[in-house]
Amino acid sequence: MKYISTRGDQTERSFCEILLEGLAPDGGLYLPVAYPQVDEATLTKWRGLAYADLAFEILSLYIDDIPADDLLAITRRTYTAEVFGTPEITPLKVLEPGLALQALSNGPTLAFKDMAMQLLGQLFEYELKRRGETLNILGATSGDTGSAAEYAMRGKAGVNVFMLSPHGRMSPFQQAQMFSLQDANIHNLAVEGVFDDCQDIVKAVSNDLDFKRQYKIGTVNSINWARLLAQVVYYFAGYFRATKSNTEKVSFTVPSGNFGNVCAGHVARMMGLPVAKLVVATNENDVLDEFFRTGVYRVRGSAETHETSSPSMDISKASNFERFVFDLLGRDGARVKALFGAGGFALTADEHARIARYGFVSGRSTHADRIATIRATHKQYGQIIDTHTADGLKVALEQRSAGTPMLVLETALPAKFAATIKEALWIDPPRPAGLEHIEDLPKRVTVLPVDVQAVKDFIRNHV
Ligand SMILES: *Cc1c(COP(=O)(O)O)cnc(C)c1O
Repeated sequence: MKYISTRGDQTERSFCEILLEGLAPDGGLYLPVAYPQVDEATLTKWRGLAYADLAFEILSLYIDDIPADDLLAITRRTYTAEVFGTPEITPLKVLEPGLALQALSNGPTLAFKDMAMQLLGQLFEYELKRRGETLNILGATSGDTGSAAEYAMRGKAGVNVFMLSPHGRMSPFQQAQMFSLQDANIHNLAVEGVFDDCQDIVKAVSNDLDFKRQYKIGTVNSINWARLLAQVVYYFAGYFRATKSNTEKVSFTVPSGNFGNVCAGHVARMMGLPVAKLVVATNENDVLDEFFRTGVYRVRGSAETHETSSPSMDISKASNFERFVFDLLGRDGARVKALFGAGGFALTADEHARIARYGFVSGRSTHADRIATIRATHKQYGQIIDTHTADGLKVALEQRSAGTPMLVLETALPAKFAATIKEALWIDPPRPAGLEHIEDLPKRVTVLPVDVQAVKDFIRNHV
């Protein structure tokens, strides 16, 4: 399989060529030249497979520059019951007939980002070793992404992680998760500023091309194709658990911010997985809901981006969304380039009408909806759900249709967002075993001023 850019550059690259890269050189995102098609016979063959073996089958369709034996070893090392809590890896929690949560949050950092990041850690280590290279990952985080990256890369040969976070602004649990890591290749840098300051520093360092080359600076952001590909697997796994035969259809509701998770659902559907609807659920930051309802994509400024109780969906610009628009517009790279180069855009009425063919619908949820949904789910089903999953469930209930099972992707465990759970239920959410006293562990973190030079000096002294 070869990959091209969404902005018209037709240069074909292989999987391992794009693995360690971010954007394509023309500023676009990578997509396969065509989606491999999966027929009913293949679905039948895959239905009984263990998760790691299903992952291998799907990845094999997209990766032809890693030998099959090596790839199978990689997926089997990644998706284990030890790391993800159960042999099913993403088990369903049935709420009532036809309605279930698909658990994606039983990895080391209790959010779905582990599903992809753990695989990325294995792929990076493999490919860097093969090339005889090293990589220094530089990132900024306000919570979930940074910890998922650190837990995926800890102890991996050839990789260092330098993760910037706003000093004192993450929840005590999130800080403890990251700062308690004692691995020599993981560096926590608490910057005396806000998240945007951290992100600006990452951009400034990455824009210094000499420094970037000399110190082999890379990223692990959500536009990475390998991350998206890893997520395609659990749509198949969820489908097989929710159905008995391959003629049935299933709908998925996905709590969305950067459109990465639900974009993987789009890819699964394009491959031929029988998906009825892909429901995009947003919080008060409703850029995507507005787009699917109206065809207008209106990027918000940071002043217009609300801080909500489902913070991992607080985005103003959905970085993966360009991939779907490329498919929607018949893979017209020149058009995509014009639309995304301009910031915001409006589809024509004809183009907007086309969205239905791709199964997409959307909805929005607010803080009051979140609290009400957490309460109702606890009362009716005896389950405590996290705030992002609550946004998903709220919208799923509006979009459900009789006869089609609805799976809501559970994107985090409630333990990560204890304050809002307490507001809704007056109780503390349970913590997974072993994490009860994580805040008391010794912390490994360096506090730095908002200063690009200070971050560069730190990297120089620690590679
Ligand atoms: C990252 C994240 C999301 C949003 O996922 P996208 O792929 O950015 O749409 C939702 N919920 C949680 C808990 C997350 O960490």
